Amino acid sequence: MELLQTIRSAIQRVRGEPAVECRHLDQIRDVTPSSTGCQQCLELGDTWVHLRMCMTDGQVGCCDSSKNKHASRHAHEHAPEHQLVRSLEPGEDWLWCYADETLMPAPDQKA
Ligand SMILES: [Zn+2]
Ligand SMILES: [Zn+2]
Ligand SMILES: [Zn+2]
Repeated sequence: MELLQTIRSAIQRVRGEPAVECRHLDQIRDVTPSSTGCQQCLELGDTWVHLRMCMTDGQVGCCDSSKNKHASRHAHEHAPEHQLVRSLEPGEDWLWCYADETLMPAPDQKA
């Protein structure tokens, strides 16, 4: 009984902590979107839901709500590099790390 409570409070402690710290921030380059839509979907004549941009080479891919999931496919193909994407949706300023599955605020964009 006591052991169970110890485990429970340990789990609560872990859950209460902020998200995992991303170790991939050095993959961020000064990139600009390489296209206005998902490159691969455009080639396929397909559609997407939201757009993500790779922070390493500026490749534009579609999100995991899109059927082709090109952004995560790009990250998997280039793993362990190219793990960070940022949202290209208007008003969304966040980065997502595929390796750590962590969301974080995007750095200020250089003018
Ligand atoms: Zn990371
Ligand atoms: Zn796509
Ligand atoms: Zn990339």
